[in-house]
Amino acid sequence: MLQVKMTEAFKMSFLDTPVPEVGDDEVLIQMKRVGVCGSDIQIYHGKHKYMTFPVVQGHEGAGVVTKVGSKVSGFKEGDKVTIQPQVYCGTCAPCRSGHYNVCKNLKVYGVHTGGMFSEYFAVPASKALLLPENMSFDEGSLVEPAAVATGAIRRCGNLTGTNVVVLGAGTIGNLVAQVAVASGAKKVVITDINETRLDIARTCGIHACINTRGRKLKDVILEQFGDDEADIIIDCAGVKAIFSEAVAAARCSSKLVIVANYKEPVEVELPLFQRREVDMLGIMMYLREDFQRAIDLMTSKAINTAPLISDHFGIRQIEEVYPYIDNNPESVMKVVIDIS
Ligand SMILES: [Zn+2]
Ligand SMILES: [Zn+2]
Repeated sequence: MLQVKMTEAFKMSFLDTPVPEVGDDEVLIQMKRVGVCGSDIQIYHGKHKYMTFPVVQGHEGAGVVTKVGSKVSGFKEGDKVTIQPQVYCGTCAPCRSGHYNVCKNLKVYGVHTGGMFSEYFAVPASKALLLPENMSFDEGSLVEPAAVATGAIRRCGNLTGTNVVVLGAGTIGNLVAQVAVASGAKKVVITDINETRLDIARTCGIHACINTRGRKLKDVILEQFGDDEADIIIDCAGVKAIFSEAVAAARCSSKLVIVANYKEPVEVELPLFQRREVDMLGIMMYLREDFQRAIDLMTSKAINTAPLISDHFGIRQIEEVYPYIDNNPESVMKVVIDIS
């Protein structure tokens, strides 16, 4: 079978490897679609802090079960599935308290251990989730990013009646904003300086999509919510200057939530958190229940992922993908690789 291995930064090789054996508790999946994530781009550039080469990338996948291990129940050949890509130890303190998404020994398929840029992929059945028959493989590949969003919103607590601002209208920001709307927020505002991304957000039922170029976040919040301001600000932008604005704009007794993946330390005016009783929350991936909720929200059309896919590439064209993403930052949203 065909497999793509990233051997070092900027270098990929196409391998012809045997189809994996299926263990008793595993399912074999013929991969159909795998999305390219921001973290994949960091790996390509050799900038990902927590991985080592070589690696087979790919953690946002959908495919079809082609073999079922002897001890597996709940799956059969032909089932459409997606894969929850976390491998965790189950014994460390975070794992024991149910927070295995921040396991001390966490490994993610496609980052720290082999991933899905491969025609076939074998995983423990506990990592697979059934997709409805009528869900496309494209949508199936977007369950993982949607699960980042459902995980983030779960961590925010009850959203009913709240004012929410999402900073950054890329794939994750868009999905976080959509899940916030679906979770009962009174008003959800998404901000960006990229009009293409805002236009996509406008097609996704997000209440207000605001271009903040040349504007202060605080002014936008006052304009959109009046004196009540924002109950929750969710950072999906990952830009230091924007985070400073978010800190300045955080209201007394509100939440500031960090979904974005910062690559370096960020200085903040800490006394503001203390004096305003602002809760700062970090979000790292998801739990299985978040994956299931993402599937459910997509199935019921409460969230819409189709507009997020900007491009498709065949797996044989995968070498062109990263330069393409690098050269088109204004227009690219989610790139999906057609595996088979
Ligand atoms: Zn991802
Ligand atoms: Zn653990």
